[in-house]
Amino acid sequence: MKVQIADIQAQHKLLKKELMESIEKVIDSSQFILGPEVAKLEEEFAKYIGTKYAVALSSGTAALQLSMAALGIKPGDEVITTPFTFIATADTIAALGAKPVFVDIDPKTFNINPAKIEEKITKKTKAIIPVHLYGQPADMDAILKIAKKYKLFVIEDACQAVGAEYKNEKAGTLGDIACFSFFPIKNLGACGDGGIITTNNQELAEKIKMLRVHGSKGKYIHEFLGYKARFDTIQAAIVLAKLKYIDEWNSKRIAIAKKYSQSLASKVVCPCLAPKIKHVYQQYTIIVPNRNKLQDYLKSKEISTGIHYPLPLHLQQAFKYLSYKEGDFPEAEKAAKEVLCLPIYPELTEEQVDYIIKSINEFFEVENV
Ligand SMILES: *Cc1c(COP(=O)(O)O)cnc(C)c1O
Repeated sequence: MKVQIADIQAQHKLLKKELMESIEKVIDSSQFILGPEVAKLEEEFAKYIGTKYAVALSSGTAALQLSMAALGIKPGDEVITTPFTFIATADTIAALGAKPVFVDIDPKTFNINPAKIEEKITKKTKAIIPVHLYGQPADMDAILKIAKKYKLFVIEDACQAVGAEYKNEKAGTLGDIACFSFFPIKNLGACGDGGIITTNNQELAEKIKMLRVHGSKGKYIHEFLGYKARFDTIQAAIVLAKLKYIDEWNSKRIAIAKKYSQSLASKVVCPCLAPKIKHVYQQYTIIVPNRNKLQDYLKSKEISTGIHYPLPLHLQQAFKYLSYKEGDFPEAEKAAKEVLCLPIYPELTEEQVDYIIKSINEFFEVENV
């Protein structure tokens, strides 16, 4: 048996007819740029998340960058975030000329540790970007309390968390603005790049709508300098067709996660759920000290696994200029050495899940002799 870490083909096989019809409709209409499907997706996505507004963009990265631009983040400002995330969370801060300031993670949830945020706040701090890593919302009450005290903006990086919930409210409704990604292997993926922001702030939504088209409101009238970062109509039609399945898909991920946790908890550290949270398992991440060995063993069994992420951001060459060093964020560094993400997606079969569990158990038997 062979198990891939992600299997987009399996999803598309089931949806092919529906997706092809959606694409064909756009081709027939020729409204490729900001066509009606983009507005429709924005309306439906905002409704699904529970915000007044959504603005579709060219990627999750663009969503982060335009959110910060709309909030007025500029050179000299500081933005607090986690070092244990995909680089887009922080390189977009740098792209605006601002400085990413990292705060270590809570080793149980892998999310930013609110208890360590306050000591990093300076006069230059403008915003906090919590990441809902792997699909589990960050500790938002604590983060929002700090943000309120110091008058900071909160930008949720919800790029791995479509449908996740914090105290019965969806990720994407909790901060000033939130960013989602439709990268193909995300739990709601396009057939290419894409992203979207959600917010209840009309002014921010309007500004981002202008920022995505060179700062223009009407054709050839530019009120400020912007970007080219709008979402394709064809991709919007695809995501729109998939959106109605997201709850069903998330439920399947949750069921697989439950089975993994029940079967593996005696051997490895399984994901730890913070109270009153709905984790949607964009990734199912275990902690194993001999991570690389287990990964190689599973590879020999034709099971591919992932490591998100092998090197925390503060130790990346790209951020060398920030002068962080090894030991600055011990929990993020430890996680980078010990996390292993197991295959998890709605189309994963019961036999495949059983095979993965059996293989992990076998590994520990072999390890112990
Ligand atoms: C995927 C991802 C992004 C970037 O999204 P893109 O659509 O790939 O640009 C940002 N942050 C996190 C946490 C992500 O997982």
